[in-house]
Amino acid sequence: MCGIIAYTGTQQALPVLLDGLKRLEYRGYDSTGVSLISRKRIKTVKAAGKLNVLESKLDTPVSGHCGIGHTRWATHGAPTDENAHPHYDADHRYAVVHNGIIENVDALKAKLGKKVTYTSETDSEVIAHLLAQHGGDFVDALRDVLLQITGTYGLAVIDKEHPDTIIVARNGSPVILGIKDDEMLAASDMSALSRYTNQVIHLDDGEIAVLKPGHFEVSRLDSTVSEKQAITLNLQNANYDRGGHPHYLYKEIVDQPDTVRQTLSGRLDERFSTAHLGGLNLSARDLIGIKRITILGCGSALYAGMAGANMIETLARIPVNAEPAAEFRYRNPVIEQDSLYIVVSQSGETFDTLAALREVQRKGGFVLGIVNSVGSTIAREVDGGIYMHAGPEVSVASTKAYTSMLTAFSLLALLLGRSRDVSPQKGNSIINELKALPEKISQVLTLETDIAKIANKYKKSASAFFIGRTSGFPVALEGAQKLKEISYIHAEAYPASELKHGPLALVTKKTPCVVILPDDELLLKTVSSMEEIKARGGPVIAVTSSDSKRIDKLADAVLRVPASGTLTQPVLMGIVLQLLAYHSAVSLGRDVDQPRNLAKSVTVE
Ligand code: GLU
Repeated sequence: MCGIIAYTGTQQALPVLLDGLKRLEYRGYDSTGVSLISRKRIKTVKAAGKLNVLESKLDTPVSGHCGIGHTRWATHGAPTDENAHPHYDADHRYAVVHNGIIENVDALKAKLGKKVTYTSETDSEVIAHLLAQHGGDFVDALRDVLLQITGTYGLAVIDKEHPDTIIVARNGSPVILGIKDDEMLAASDMSALSRYTNQVIHLDDGEIAVLKPGHFEVSRLDSTVSEKQAITLNLQNANYDRGGHPHYLYKEIVDQPDTVRQTLSGRLDERFSTAHLGGLNLSARDLIGIKRITILGCGSALYAGMAGANMIETLARIPVNAEPAAEFRYRNPVIEQDSLYIVVSQSGETFDTLAALREVQRKGGFVLGIVNSVGSTIAREVDGGIYMHAGPEVSVASTKAYTSMLTAFSLLALLLGRSRDVSPQKGNSIINELKALPEKISQVLTLETDIAKIANKYKKSASAFFIGRTSGFPVALEGAQKLKEISYIHAEAYPASELKHGPLALVTKKTPCVVILPDDELLLKTVSSMEEIKARGGPVIAVTSSDSKRIDKLADAVLRVPASGTLTQPVLMGIVLQLLAYHSAVSLGRDVDQPRNLAKSVTVE
């Protein structure tokens, strides 16, 4: 989502800001801008559109050693040049970049009075005017202004009266400080910092940091000092290159044998036929005391959670449900002492998921996180967790992180199962199944040519259905989601059993139906659903691990994944659907990595 970058130091700031914005690009945005302090004046350049539009406006580079930059994802006002950040006051004393939403903007504008002229429709601009009206000491002024704000922000502000100083603050939207000898950086996302430093500090909500070259000071809104320790990032996995592939999404799909290996690494305990998950902070006694599990997430993380719910319930016989984090949070949920809550988020910054986590903790619940981004807000606030170690996911639509979420859930299911009725023999066979998974993913990737042909054949479809049952249903949901997100083909997922209760009315020869058929006890029932589709002329694409001849007879196309156990079949089938969505999007000429209207790491409510 929207991004912030800030730099003060010995170098020219503009190239650092532009490089940071380039690295934030993947999060999705609609306009960009920078402000720099040069000879005690603030110079701002901003533009709607992609970064190259801004770059072309910067033909003559702006010089200065201190500056801020922004990629905007509009919430208040259309993506126009005027609405792009940074925003400033009438005298151009302050420039502000802001991520988030100011909910009481109308009240703040009323307070500022009629004399103020606004140059944008954004909520963010009000911050610059409030600062100007306040005047006085820079930090005190910003603190007072922030205390008046209701809503969320990650922000960076410069003041021409303090030409080497940047103040950043956080409430709900991430801000990370990057520390470097005689320089200081800040950004909303690690990707913008990792080229410059591996020493970072995550601000917490309610904190404000004053940055000067080689120096920072963190305090809270109530002026008390916050002692912060820098963490050293392991940048080995921090690979933000496309590796010669046409799209990040493609790279992230084909990297999955390795990323799954990383998720599994050091976590299979052959001696006790279980999983070793160091960060859970749950004793063996805690594990057997768990009576119920609730999994919370948004989008693909929710679908991964639904798949995880199936795995845990099947193996450990604990009742598990998965629900959208934002809905859970707002229905005043009942939190139980003997329940385990699991929040799932690639970025660890998803606002809705973070808010749900806080709601559960506020009521005394114990929360585990399944998170990819090390040191992110959710990772820091949970009571325990499992890192996915999938490396940075750059493409907006999730692939490798989704797969690693399923892998993490299979480890947790094994651990919980082995703390209950799963025998050592069964535990061992699951370990072998998981060990074989990366190689089987490589085999699935060899189906690509067939998948590309199918994608091309059906790319003109206005609509598609994805159906599956029990463990196949979350696969169908994620498959439909992926197709919608990147190819813009309308796609709906249903449990196969539900088709006849309504959606069958829409099945014609123009609506391809992707049928998920794990090789399990429901296989024949799902085959009957295929019959129903065929009887109405609907084209069927079967994704299966079964070698049933009936499937070949009925389906217009069969994509066969290697046989595997019940835990890993959904992973393999999910990867087929990722490739299907990818090739549909490519053949339609879509912007695969940055689909319209969407953003990575959704840090607004
Ligand atoms: N609410 C602000 C706007 O619409 C900030 C959006 C963002 O986070 O990019 O300009």
